Amino acid sequence: MIQLYIPLNFLGVIYREIKQSLADMERLFSLLDQNREVADSPGAQPLVAKGARVEFSHVEFSYEAKRQILFDVDFTIPAGTTTAVVGHSGSGKSTLSRLLFRFYDVNKGSIAIDGQDISSVTQASLRAAIGIVPQDTVLFNDTIEYNIAYGKPGASHADIVAAARAASIHEFIESLPDGYATMVGERGLKLSGGEKQRVAIARTLLKNPAILIFDEATSALDSKSEQAIQAQLKEIAKNRTTLVIAHRLSTIADAQQIIVLDHGKIVERGTHQSLLAARGLYAQMWERQLARPDEDVASVPLELQG
Ligand code: ATP
Repeated sequence: MIQLYIPLNFLGVIYREIKQSLADMERLFSLLDQNREVADSPGAQPLVAKGARVEFSHVEFSYEAKRQILFDVDFTIPAGTTTAVVGHSGSGKSTLSRLLFRFYDVNKGSIAIDGQDISSVTQASLRAAIGIVPQDTVLFNDTIEYNIAYGKPGASHADIVAAARAASIHEFIESLPDGYATMVGERGLKLSGGEKQRVAIARTLLKNPAILIFDEATSALDSKSEQAIQAQLKEIAKNRTTLVIAHRLSTIADAQQIIVLDHGKIVERGTHQSLLAARGLYAQMWERQLARPDEDVASVPLELQG
């Protein structure tokens, strides 16, 4: 019994650690092949995502009973459009994506995709419909080919190369002595931040999900890689329902909708132009961003800005 208890307990600790990081969300599910906090409801049907309209309806959520994190969060991402979420550190931005991925169930309200409550569809179908480009991509200790193919188990080499080309990493891979068979990860070739992001982009292109979650890196890459990657992300997000967790406002100025979260509540929403005209928190954050272009806006409490 004790022997069984220790490893399971250990797994629980790892599970909690990993759960915090969007970077590993997709991986975690395949490792454990189940999410222990949520379960498929009896008779759960596969999600049928067409345009993939995402609807958060009056969502309330707390990780622990005593501390509520989200309050009456209500917004819709129309099919094929981009919504960016901004707000200071701890305001609940990443929690929104954890809930959309159904890492946890909401306490009140609901989240629906094309009218289907995500708690009533199978978790496997939900996960298959969502692609995540995380802040910091975790690479497996395996070949670069495997790391890209992870987006779509069973993908052909030709598909993998096509995805790598589209993510502008094919030429780099070809320049390595072992090409696509190059070992990467902790024990292999270390890739730069930009190269890792391109692997994540290739992975996502291969997966071709209806919904994209983009967790923007807190620290800017050098501006040339940054611009190239931004351009690619824009391309992937085109006509795909996208939720961007934003850390630099310059990258989201053309999002169809921007939501400002403050202490778990939506305090402003609109387009970049309408929010600037409203001269509220977003406008303050924008002023500050103009003065310090590389700063992570989320790192500065809103109250102190201006
Ligand atoms: P950042 O910009 O720093 O990434 P964020 O806006 O994404 O922050 P969240 O990660 O959504 O913020 O966290 C919102 C709040 O929920 C924070 O106060 C955080 O401490 C709390 N929180 C996050 N994960 C857990 C957890 N597993 N258990 C308890 N509280 C948590």
